[in-house]
Amino acid sequence: MSAFREALGGLQPERGEAGPAGRRWLYVPADQLTDRVGPLATEPPGELGIVLLETLWRPRPRVDHKQKLALALASLRHFAIEQARRGVAIRYEVGDAPYAELLEPVARELGGLRMMEAAEYEMRESLEPLVQSGLIEVLPNETWMTSRAQFVETFAESGRWRMDAFYRRVRRDSGILMESGKPVGGRFSFDPENRRRWSGEPPAPEPPRFPVDAIKREVTDLIDGSLGHHPGRLDPARLPATRADAETLWSWALEACLPCFGPFEDAMSVDSRNLFHTRVSALLNNGRLLARRLVEDVLALDIPIASQEGFIRQVMGWREFMRHVHAETDGFRRLPSHGQPNALGAREPLPPAYWGTPSGLFCLDRVVEDVWETGYGHHITRLMVLSNLATLLAVDPRELTDWFWVAYVDAYDLSTCRNEDVLVLADGDYVVRQHTMHARTHRGQDYTNVYCFVFRFDDQGRIRYLTEHWNTWHAYNVLFNNFEIEPAHPLD
Ligand SMILES: Cc1cc2nc3c(=O)[nH]c(=O)nc-3n(C[C@H](O)[C@H](O)[C@H](O)COP(=O)(O)OP(=O)(O)OC[C@H]3O[C@@H](n4cnc5c(N)ncnc54)[C@H](O)[C@@H]3O)c2cc1C
Repeated sequence: MSAFREALGGLQPERGEAGPAGRRWLYVPADQLTDRVGPLATEPPGELGIVLLETLWRPRPRVDHKQKLALALASLRHFAIEQARRGVAIRYEVGDAPYAELLEPVARELGGLRMMEAAEYEMRESLEPLVQSGLIEVLPNETWMTSRAQFVETFAESGRWRMDAFYRRVRRDSGILMESGKPVGGRFSFDPENRRRWSGEPPAPEPPRFPVDAIKREVTDLIDGSLGHHPGRLDPARLPATRADAETLWSWALEACLPCFGPFEDAMSVDSRNLFHTRVSALLNNGRLLARRLVEDVLALDIPIASQEGFIRQVMGWREFMRHVHAETDGFRRLPSHGQPNALGAREPLPPAYWGTPSGLFCLDRVVEDVWETGYGHHITRLMVLSNLATLLAVDPRELTDWFWVAYVDAYDLSTCRNEDVLVLADGDYVVRQHTMHARTHRGQDYTNVYCFVFRFDDQGRIRYLTEHWNTWHAYNVLFNNFEIEPAHPLD
């Protein structure tokens, strides 16, 4: 790590009054890379020091996408340099041990640490003994826009967690997109306007590329070398690892994506991976961009309300809602008001197709290819293709969640366990389409879920056969084990 260490070394304070010893120290996890909130925003940089940990330890084998690892490491190193330039002292620890193991001796040496509450279950759990022993003082995590009280109070009566109820509550509390107590435009959601097909017009923007510097190169060399067995393609020009890169990405999103965000937010196309999605999730999740600022910038845009509201609902609604659900359920380990995290009793392994073995299903193969190529896919491909098929195939939700976790650059333990009321339309030889229905799993359990049609096309693209699958086990065999389709409804 010579380029990084050299750059950092040249910026470190000398011993003495302004040196490391006289400072108040913070631990900054890799998903809090910001000086816009918390002590880094309010206390003089010359009085502060931060500890950053670079550890490749994992509690269980998790073969993260190379691009994801590269973004994490390059962002951490660049954040260290940026903070050192502000005059903050840096303690950059590298190791291969759990967070607590690396942090404990440092915390003792520095006389204790403060940190904003970790968003990740795994880190909270690992650091708990240090918190209990008083070595770490936990401060509120100010990167979020909403409070636990808002979430808990919204559902105090119903006991059912619904995003729309939470979102309305947050809109009312914050006054965002509200006028005299009423939602701007007369409605809280403009979803009916936001379901347009995209047929190529207006053209979808190309995401920006970012300068490749010595630190990014060093990180990509490290990953290509000792972590070369990890999956996915590594593209150093697609790493928004510096503060300046984050600003470039966000300016592009505001200008090129937001005006058309709403109408096409639920569209899928093989001609654009991105459509008008902003790709900011990885930077929201690592703290480079803050939700509050994104919402303020989008409110300041002169764009149609359907796009403005559509984006704000994702960031202030869905994202915050999922964060509270995640916190209340200990990272989906227990779901008090919804039963077990595996309500369908699904236990099948994830098919090899998710790791890149061609399945013959055009939609699945295409989305999977995109993910391993870029570490990205927008929410519709995640939900409607990957999650839907996995639900139909009775894949163990934990396996699917773990797959999302390693495959996506932005993935930080957000759950994919509960996807319902879904509709899938896939291209190519087969089309799978689902409707909500009551059905029975192959293990004999009743559930309200989806209903699967398999269409087979002839050479001219006309539907040749249609079969309905009342149980997911049979659909699995038809789609993946090449079982003969019984033409329940031959169409010619
Ligand atoms: C099955 C499934 C798994 C997902 N896993 C993750 C994950 O691991 N990590 C993650 O950050 N997001 C996850 N999401 C949410 C969402 O798909 C991604 O955040 C989004 O696609 C990122 O792309 P973008 O920044 O271009 O989003 P845009 O469409 O431009 O949206 C802007 C921002 O809104 C938020 N957002 C958008 N859609 C959602 C949503 N459905 N739920 C919560 N927040 C949303 C994200 O922060 C996103 O950056 C998942 C969604 C689904 C359906």
